[in-house]
Amino acid sequence: MTDQVNRPKGVTSVALIAHDNKKADLIAWVEKNSVKLNKCTVYATGTTGKLIAEKTGVDVRRCHSGPLGGDQQIGALISEGKVDLLIFFWDPLEPMPHDPDIKALLRLATLWNVPSACNSATADFLVNSNLFEEFLPQRPDFDSYLNRDVPNK
Ligand code: PGA
Repeated sequence: MTDQVNRPKGVTSVALIAHDNKKADLIAWVEKNSVKLNKCTVYATGTTGKLIAEKTGVDVRRCHSGPLGGDQQIGALISEGKVDLLIFFWDPLEPMPHDPDIKALLRLATLWNVPSACNSATADFLVNSNLFEEFLPQRPDFDSYLNRDVPNK
């Protein structure tokens, strides 16, 4: 793991996504935590971001709608180290057309050691942790993977 020392301590960027049946839950969570979130760069998928901006006033950088590539955009931001926290209220009761994108996003969040919450209980733990103010991302070191032997003949 490598600490990123050349950055301010604490969570500075959060990505927010909610599937349609979970959007009301996420909006309520954002309202409850708007003071903290307003100090961060907030990314969101398209429709989630539009609703959050309208209903809570939190300033959001919107990606495409999830099924149109937004989940992949958030995944790319994670791989670039631009997301400190992922709050993703996915719907366990509905099949989604972009299921592979959802899985890919959750995989990248795990790969890059990004604290992630998939329900409001876990999101509450993250936002109320002392680490919210003390956080420094711990990015995994992939040197051994990058320098692995690969058959090339
Ligand atoms: P949406 O996308 O915010 O555009 O609805 C969410 C998702 O389905 O990933």
